[in-house]
Parts: sequence; C-alpha cells; structure tokens
Amino acid sequence: MDEQPLPLEPGPARVLVVEDEPKLAALLADYLRAAGHAPECVGDGRDALQAWIDRRHDLVLLDLMLPGLDGLSLCRQLRTLTSVPIVMLTARTDEADRLTGLELGADDYIAKTPFSPREVMARVKAVLRRSRATQRPVATAWPLLVDEQGWRAAWQGRALNLTPNEFRLLRLLASQRGRVYTRSQLLELLQGDAGATTERAVDAHVKNLRRKLEQAGAGSERIRSVYGVGYSYDD
Ligand code: CA
Repeated sequence: MDEQPLPLEPGPARVLVVEDEPKLAALLADYLRAAGHAPECVGDGRDALQAWIDRRHDLVLLDLMLPGLDGLSLCRQLRTLTSVPIVMLTARTDEADRLTGLELGADDYIAKTPFSPREVMARVKAVLRRSRATQRPVATAWPLLVDEQGWRAAWQGRALNLTPNEFRLLRLLASQRGRVYTRSQLLELLQGDAGATTERAVDAHVKNLRRKLEQAGAGSERIRSVYGVGYSYDD
C-alpha cells in the first residue's frame, strides 16, 4: 500500500443518517453538525439507498429497524455498490445481529440501549479515520477493472460498455473472486428494470455480461455457472 500521511482529525464528512425515529434522527444530526459534519436524515430504507446513490455520502449511520427496507438488507445492497463506511445502530443487543451486521459489511455496530450520542460520535470519528487511511475501490485488480465511482468496467483496458444492471452484477461477482452467489442474491441487485422480477432475469443479464466480456477478449469462462445455484467470477 502507498504510504499516506494520516490526518490527526478525519475532517468534515457528509453523513447519511438512516433513522425512522424523528427525535433520534434530529439528535444525531445535531451532534454531527456540532462535530463539523454535514448530516442528511432519511427515515426509510429505500429512500436511503436512493439518497446514497444520488449523493454518495462519506459515511452511513444506519438504524437496523426501518420501514421500506430493513437495515441489514440496506447494508447488503450498499455493499454491492460501495465500500462507504457504515455504522449500524440497533435497539437489539443480540450478538447474532451484531455478527450478521458485521458479516454484511458494516464497519461498526452500536447498541441503542443505553443510547449515547457521544459514543456514536466517537465511533463515527474512528471509522472515518480508519476508512480514509485505507480507502480503495471494491474491485480494481488487473485484468478486470471495476471503477465504482465512475460506473465503468474494463477488461485489460478495453471498456465493457455495461448497462447499470450488468455493472451491478459484475461488481458483486468480482468483489470476491471464486465465490458463488445465488440467483436470488443477484436478483436483489437488479433495479429499474420491469423485466427483472424473476431469477431468469439474472440469467439474461449474465448472458449479456458474458458476451461483453468475450468481446473484450476475456474469453467465455470468466463467469462460471453453478448448476441449480448461481454464478461466480474468476480472472
Ligand atoms: Ca428504527
């Protein structure tokens, strides 16, 4: 890794606060502003996903229990898009929940009982500092380049010209080489596509993705079908 000088303080961050209890959201926003950050509060999981896609916040403070899309699902979906730091908040103190949250890619996990905004701010600061020291895109290894900021992908420097859904699929598959993702996991990624209501839609997008990879010279074996399960990616 390149040596980067570490700033003493993480500096101002744009923070997406996903919390459906207005009083709690307002309290968190006050503390964030007092610490110099710029909070945006959203009370619904689906709105939160769209808000992040539109505005690419620096950190997500995420309540577990939400209307629309629950915190764990939102966390999983965000992780297919980005390595943005995610701090989870929950009223539940179950160890299993904590582990699920961290497995799904949350960077930290805080119980709301007893609720301490100071503790939340301390974790936000620690997570921001850590993420700014190590920030890197999800998958940029040669020969496949996945540029998540630019929504572009290339094989050995040749652009793949993917649709958004193809890009989402490739980004997830390539995020862990060799790991098999089920069709239903992949189906969750497909958005804004009237035809994407069945797992067959996944097969159709994967077929197009394979064709584009092949046209770029990657061969037809990059995306492997696992019969009755789903797909995996390998360089
Ligand atoms: Ca809640």
